[in-house]
Amino acid sequence: MTSLSPALKQATPVIVDHALGSFIYGADGRRYLDFTTGIGVTSTGHCHPRVVAAAREQTGKIIHAQFTTVLHQPLLQLTEKLGNFLPAELDSVFYANSGSEAVEAAIRLARMATARPNIIAFQGGFHGRTVAAASLTTAGTKFRSGFAPLMSGVHIAPFPYAFRYGWPEEDAVAFALRELDYLLASISSPQDTAAFIIEPALGDGGYLKTPAAFLEGLRERATVHGIMLILDEVQTGVGRTGKFWGHQHSSITPDILITAKGIASGFPISAIAAPTAVMAMAWPGSQGGTYGGNAVSAAAGVATLDVIRDEDLVANARIRGDQLLSGLQRIGAGHQGIGDVRGIGLMLALEFVNRDGDADPQAATAVQQAAIEQDLLLLTCGARGNVLRIIPALNVTEDEVDLGLRSLDAALEDAL
Ligand code: PLP
Repeated sequence: MTSLSPALKQATPVIVDHALGSFIYGADGRRYLDFTTGIGVTSTGHCHPRVVAAAREQTGKIIHAQFTTVLHQPLLQLTEKLGNFLPAELDSVFYANSGSEAVEAAIRLARMATARPNIIAFQGGFHGRTVAAASLTTAGTKFRSGFAPLMSGVHIAPFPYAFRYGWPEEDAVAFALRELDYLLASISSPQDTAAFIIEPALGDGGYLKTPAAFLEGLRERATVHGIMLILDEVQTGVGRTGKFWGHQHSSITPDILITAKGIASGFPISAIAAPTAVMAMAWPGSQGGTYGGNAVSAAAGVATLDVIRDEDLVANARIRGDQLLSGLQRIGAGHQGIGDVRGIGLMLALEFVNRDGDADPQAATAVQQAAIEQDLLLLTCGARGNVLRIIPALNVTEDEVDLGLRSLDAALEDAL
């Protein structure tokens, strides 16, 4: 008999019947508060009525049309709406299905535009699971071991992870920039370096905000050396951090920006934005794939951006993020084993450490499992798996945040 792969079988005991807003209703009759949002995807909550209506309507018009043959209205509308949010310089947009594909497209573009081979990524970065994207990913060995060789021309530089170093943020930034300069002077010369790629806040790598001063240091070096700065906003984009783009917590503008996840509330679509002159370097047919920019996904994307604007969800992410962060700080102070409590908008995390200050992945997993008993769904992350991340929908309510905090407190009590 055919069965699910072992990874799928072991992943979770919860089987969904249906979902609405911040809640997943299990086939077991239980109602779970979903603070995972399908890894930061269902930005407007599950099955937002306007997203569902847009997708239903589009499904009756045209589901798929390949862009080499015809263009459809949803893609044109999505491009116009995204243009309201993108930096003016990034005036050209291309579409794929997933974050990994967008990362690959950005790497190809940067290499073509600069005629240079190397890409510098940063420790703890997560850029996807395809072979090229995995080559840039150091958010855990599971994403890269066992299928070498990975893509060549990749160098990994330190990320200013102040908590791990036990340093003030300025020192971590100064250290990481010095190491980057050393890398550029010793291993990957600027003449060989096409791009830096970084997330405005590490996602799978541990929900760590990339300090503004670090992004600004990268921008400066990229401009001086003609290196392209690619911002991977697959997880941080579309309001998640309390600003529309994660990089808006700093003063920089990227050369290429990629986004996915929250853009269409759960329908698969990703976008790559760059200046037209850069985008024109890609030969027709060299980017994207059969399904890129799917009509139903694009229609859901248009509805998602409208809901985010009409319901003021970027501001809600900020307000509820602050509520969650102060609740987590209060709870964290009452439990041993929580080394760091952090958050940026609705990307929040608890980092677990043992008595020696070392990563404690067992504690994170135990709390995650105890949370299921409290009808709360959470995810772990971090290169060592010792971070519990909290990613509610952007329209999470005050009461839902309070409920989540109570359930988490009970789970911590049970597990630690
Ligand atoms: N980049 C970032 C920052 C991500 O968080 C992810 C997925 O979690 C990806 C890229 C890869 O996206 P996908 O899983 O859609 O391929």
